[in-house]
Amino acid sequence: MKEKCTAIVLAAGSGKRMGTRIQKQYLDICGYPVLYYALKCFQDSPLIDEIILVAGERDIEYCRSDIVGKYHFTKIKKIVAGGKERYDSVYVGLKNCQDCDYVFIHDGARPFVREEILQQALQTVQACGACVAAVPSKDTVKIVNEEGLIVDTPDRSKVWIVQTPQVFEYALIRRAYDKLMNGPHAQVTDDAMAVELMENHPVKVTKGSYYNIKITTPEDMMLAKAYVQARSLS
Ligand code: C5P
Repeated sequence: MKEKCTAIVLAAGSGKRMGTRIQKQYLDICGYPVLYYALKCFQDSPLIDEIILVAGERDIEYCRSDIVGKYHFTKIKKIVAGGKERYDSVYVGLKNCQDCDYVFIHDGARPFVREEILQQALQTVQACGACVAAVPSKDTVKIVNEEGLIVDTPDRSKVWIVQTPQVFEYALIRRAYDKLMNGPHAQVTDDAMAVELMENHPVKVTKGSYYNIKITTPEDMMLAKAYVQARSLS
């Protein structure tokens, strides 16, 4: 029997670093909102059974009518209100999953996730229970102290830039988040970190893409538009 795969798509952030009145996940890229692109990938993927969309409390109605309804995203079974931090929103999503084997946690602000990334991630998670899409760092990374002085330079060949989707056996990530949210609050900036901190379970990197950018600042919007235009020409 096929294992059930649920995607949690996060869109409850306020997107302050973009500096726009509209949150970044609703900004327009070539006629569609940023959030549309990732949802379309999960909707079209034969691997994904259902989608839980986590949105800001005030945006739920907008998402229902102007995104789910308008683009016929029939796999979106629930739209739920997220929380203050990303990990609060993930936890809401996890608590709303029903009978799923694997969960794909994805930032709605990453429009260019592709089917191949989902396929690679599913194969990896089936083998080892926890994986994150990632790419090798092109840049040298420095660890800097409060005074702005470099204190360490990690070996670049070991540095990976982590993306989403981050994909887990449901029971594993749920246990990690239950511990995280019910214990002294560690600040986790991605889901792998919850597993790294709370569970003695390895997390593997799986092939992401340099196109799988996260829309964060205005330059990212320019790149995103250029990418969609180039894709539609080719
Ligand atoms: O802020 P950042 O770009 O790291 O957010 C990553 C993703 O997490 C975005 O898609 C954002 O909408 C989502 N998020 C959320 N709830 C929050 C903060 C961020 O769903 N409280």
